[in-house]
Amino acid sequence: MLARVIIGLGLTVIAFAVAGRRVWWLGRLAFSGQPAPERVAYARSHPGREAETQLTEVIGQRKLLKWSVPGAAHAATFWGFIVLLLTIIEAYGDLFSRTFAIPGIGHWAFIGFIEDLFAVGVLAGIVTFTVIRVRNNPRTEGRRSRFFGSHTRAAWVVLWMIAAVIVTLLIYRGAQQNTGTFPYPHAWAFASWVVAQILHPLGYGVNSVLEATFILLQLAVVLTFLVIVTYSKHLHIGLAPLNIMFSRRPNALGPLEPMRSGGKVLDFEEADPDVDVFGIGKVEDLTWKGLLDLGTCTECGRCQSQCPAWVTGKPLSPKQVILDLRDHAFAKAPYLLATEEDRATLPGAVKAEAERPLVGTAEENGVIDPEVIWSCTNCGACVNECPVDIEHIDHINGMRRHQVLVESAFPQEATTMLNNLERRGNPWGMAEDKRLDWITELDFEVPVLDGRIPDDVEYLYWVGCAGALEDRAKKATKAIAELLHVAGVKFAVLGPMEACTGDPARRLGNEFVFQMLAQQNVETLNEAGVAAGTGKKVIASCPHCFNTISREYPQLGGNYEVIHHTQLLARLVEDGRLTPVSAVEEKITYHDPCFLGRHNQVYTPPRSIIDAVPGTQAEEMHRCKGKGFCCGAGGARMWLEERTGKRINEERIDEALALDPDTVTTACPYCMVMLGDAVNAKKAAGQAKPELEVIDVAQLLVRSIKLREQTASAAPNEEGAGL
Ligand code: SF4
Ligand code: SF4
Repeated sequence: MLARVIIGLGLTVIAFAVAGRRVWWLGRLAFSGQPAPERVAYARSHPGREAETQLTEVIGQRKLLKWSVPGAAHAATFWGFIVLLLTIIEAYGDLFSRTFAIPGIGHWAFIGFIEDLFAVGVLAGIVTFTVIRVRNNPRTEGRRSRFFGSHTRAAWVVLWMIAAVIVTLLIYRGAQQNTGTFPYPHAWAFASWVVAQILHPLGYGVNSVLEATFILLQLAVVLTFLVIVTYSKHLHIGLAPLNIMFSRRPNALGPLEPMRSGGKVLDFEEADPDVDVFGIGKVEDLTWKGLLDLGTCTECGRCQSQCPAWVTGKPLSPKQVILDLRDHAFAKAPYLLATEEDRATLPGAVKAEAERPLVGTAEENGVIDPEVIWSCTNCGACVNECPVDIEHIDHINGMRRHQVLVESAFPQEATTMLNNLERRGNPWGMAEDKRLDWITELDFEVPVLDGRIPDDVEYLYWVGCAGALEDRAKKATKAIAELLHVAGVKFAVLGPMEACTGDPARRLGNEFVFQMLAQQNVETLNEAGVAAGTGKKVIASCPHCFNTISREYPQLGGNYEVIHHTQLLARLVEDGRLTPVSAVEEKITYHDPCFLGRHNQVYTPPRSIIDAVPGTQAEEMHRCKGKGFCCGAGGARMWLEERTGKRINEERIDEALALDPDTVTTACPYCMVMLGDAVNAKKAAGQAKPELEVIDVAQLLVRSIKLREQTASAAPNEEGAGL
């Protein structure tokens, strides 16, 4: 008995010493990052919400369960290990007394039952993971495997360790049943009972030895597992609840974070390049939350499998970005944690790691290749998928910011767009008065503001650069205006007073140009009298404008009630102010714009508009709603060349073409341009029917209403009644 106690406690002390040392080192590394006081402040001021998030995301495994089979396997393993903590207490108790039982509950049949139930659940989970890993073997599946680039060997070791925990558990419990030391009614612990029947013929003596040996073996496996966890991707077991607690709420989609240095929002007028941090130029420029992200990655590859850049053959994998940053941070850690004096004595390999540029080509020995960061469309699929709330876009855009603002290193084709934004306030560099051209093509008046919005006008229509200046997008703009006019909605536009929201500049990493444009627009909108609380609302037809004005301008003090045109049109249809009664006999599919859907959760209104048009036969593409596939234009990619792999817009249109639609609809001018280009390319190659169109849902709606108008020769009614 004494030997068992000494071995058991000895192993425990060694394991906790090794794991504790590693945890201390990890903690020091995390706290060497930049401050992020806003994360702590939010968690502190919303304790109820944080508790709810822990319940749903960690305990409830909400995001994991979105992938039903691997999610269920993970949930079984996770919940199993929580329940099996009881068996670890029992194993330690058994070191001191063979008849140990947990005080109070230690003889309850139900406890014996759930311990066995979850032990079997964990085994089932492990078998499922094994099948998933064999079927997704990166060696045979290549880039199609979500585990491509993951540390698969370590994952296999951990799977075997977990299996060993359960096997040793069931053997010692079965032996306990045969020696009479099992604390629960035997048959309730059904799996242990089955093992007991197998071991029974071996007799009391052998069962006693098995009991003693396998209890020690179980503790040894659990303690080894504890150490492995602190040195592997299974760190997420401890870090995921923390990472989820300090993640942005509701998630890291929608707005980009303002640029911060030393925990404070950077003021460009007072910034000191020698002191302040401009984006992420070195791994130590990450905040502690950014470093926590790196340690939390489970290497599951869900993000990678949904990334449009990765799927179409680009070098960007959001998982690999996180893993490369993590490997670099760990390798550079001795340098980061050393004093100035000690740094000189560090091994050459550590010094070499410390000198690697964070963003640089293979020739430059860079950690992240520049093409990786410039391939990102900011579509948000990675953030949306990640079960542990890693904020990939913040990392990628942080690196972009440093490249643009400090290194002046970005794809040269973006230079013209940035110059146009600075000089003309739109990416095409067109004259301001061109923003009025679409109005002249309408047969009714659209008021253009030159001061405050009149009292009787409820909406300011923010047309956006593409909506005002790009020919295909202008058609959607005119359709929206016509529908508002028909429904009797009073609206006005800013015309030449409107400037780009700054979204392309910000997503490219040029925070300076973004701030310049954003401040100008906030001033214009406030002077127009449409700030939140005035009763006025802003209609945005471009999801990028919608996202920027509603969710990024508050960072500059501009607060507005913004509605996307599909939300307003759907409401007008619902209220009977727009009645599409003429049939449009077409098969329609709808493409979710990332900045409307995933970033802002607007999925239903465009679909309800399509459904309201009689005669339409709507069919969803395989990748839709939260799993929608990008058109390739976001993240300023609209202005960059796509030189590697398949074009993202063509990948998307191929998916649409598989449904053989008559019309592809969307609700974003960027998507219309990108998908329209892809359709034109397909038509030229004879791979799409000549009549296939890409239009905004507003154009579909106006078609139905206009058909009715033509047949009934009805004049527009001020209130829209009868239309
Ligand atoms: S935002 Fe989209 S394109 Fe960028 S890394 Fe994530 S999934 Fe890939
Ligand atoms: S970043 Fe998130 S989704 Fe991607 S591999 Fe890591 S844990 Fe999985």
